[in-house]
Amino acid sequence: MHSVSNKTSNPLPKTGKLVAVKGMNDILPPDSARWEWLEDKVRALMARYAYRNVRTPIVEPTALFVRGLGEVTDIVEKEMYSFEDRLNGEHLTLRPEATAGVVRAASEHSMLYDGGKRLYYMGPMFRHERPQRGRYRQFHQIGAEAMGFHGAEVDAELILLADALWKELGLKDVCLELNSLGQPEERKAHRAALIAYLEGHSELLDEDARRRLHSNPLRILDTKNPAMQSLVQAAPKLLDYLGEESRRHFDTVKAILDANGVAWTVNPRLVRGMDYYNLTVFEFVTEQLGSQGTICGGGRYDYLFEQIGGKPAPAVGWALGVERVLELVKEQEAAPPMLVADAYAIVPDEKSLPAVMAVLQRLRALDVSVQMHSPAVWGEGMGSMKSQFKKADASGCRHALIFGSDELARSAVTIKPLREGGGDQVERALDALPDWAPTLQSPR
Ligand code: ATP
Ligand code: MG
Repeated sequence: MHSVSNKTSNPLPKTGKLVAVKGMNDILPPDSARWEWLEDKVRALMARYAYRNVRTPIVEPTALFVRGLGEVTDIVEKEMYSFEDRLNGEHLTLRPEATAGVVRAASEHSMLYDGGKRLYYMGPMFRHERPQRGRYRQFHQIGAEAMGFHGAEVDAELILLADALWKELGLKDVCLELNSLGQPEERKAHRAALIAYLEGHSELLDEDARRRLHSNPLRILDTKNPAMQSLVQAAPKLLDYLGEESRRHFDTVKAILDANGVAWTVNPRLVRGMDYYNLTVFEFVTEQLGSQGTICGGGRYDYLFEQIGGKPAPAVGWALGVERVLELVKEQEAAPPMLVADAYAIVPDEKSLPAVMAVLQRLRALDVSVQMHSPAVWGEGMGSMKSQFKKADASGCRHALIFGSDELARSAVTIKPLREGGGDQVERALDALPDWAPTLQSPR
């Protein structure tokens, strides 16, 4: 658990090639372009819903997660990267999720003193899980949180926001599952009924369920054990224990979704991994990613602020798994073509470099992207025209800019289209650069 393990530490390898930590990935070009594409879409969308960016530390006090997420959750029981600071003995944890940190920040900086706040974040999270497709030890989440609002319209707004994101990304066949966990009193009544029911069928419970029977019986409903499915199907449903107000809250969320044409199904067994949820919970799931099909999950967490010692405040939010969303984008071929520069600069003579690079800076200032030819070895010239053209072709750029000494003597550059249908090669005067620079730009 979150105590310091007695395991003797492995010695540091003194030789050999060092590689990344298991389950933690490098994100490299050209894949990283897809990440940037997604992040840009998210930023634009969040702005349209008036959600503002927050950035909290990756390391937080361990107690934040133990108290915030609950001691008997999977994350706190077995998935956290917790350690003791060697210098001062502080108990620290690499954040396994960001909601607790955002709540801590909102509370620490009294962000809600003048009313509710709508916030979003993007960043890496850390969970010690068994690495597999869609499940990593360092993974990334993008999340949205609305804090200081009780109303069901905010729950609905967040779901509409996520739904709009799927549309922006061109994703199809993402299904929304909803549930309501009610309020603590309602859960207590349901919990008692559930424990009584499960105790009545104790011979059907697996080891995991037996362990959770009194600590976290709701999680038993979430079991993936096929042998227990009929048992949990017939278990008392929390929805039947909701009071008038909780039911009205849930109905309002559903009515707003209906009015917006967002399809949903109620999944009475949807309980989510963290203890902090109440009322609305939801997940967006797909069947196209194998067993890791949940791309986004969230809900209302009206008690988390006080749980971590802050002034009580209602809140609701969601987090999506970036790796899974991008995997789905790939699966559905929804991504745009990978980014290439507009032009590739060919420079036959090394001596021209200062003048050429001044021209390239002017182009870039006008939003033309330019990749410059650079030979692998310095001091032996720029390489033959043939080899430079080969590189230019391989770059995927639509144009080559040829800065031959003849052209430069005339204060000009030759623009050669590299792709079929790009027209003829033309010479352009550098004085008139602002006039022709836009013709180099690919459609953005
Ligand atoms: P799961 O049931 O798949 O373990 P979870 O309930 O633990 O998911 P949340 O804590 O709700 O997940 O996180 C929100 C989203 O983050 C998930 O829906 C998923 O897309 C993504 N996610 C969670 N854990 C991982 C992981 N280890 N690797 C990659 N993505 C993850
Ligand atoms: Mg999990």
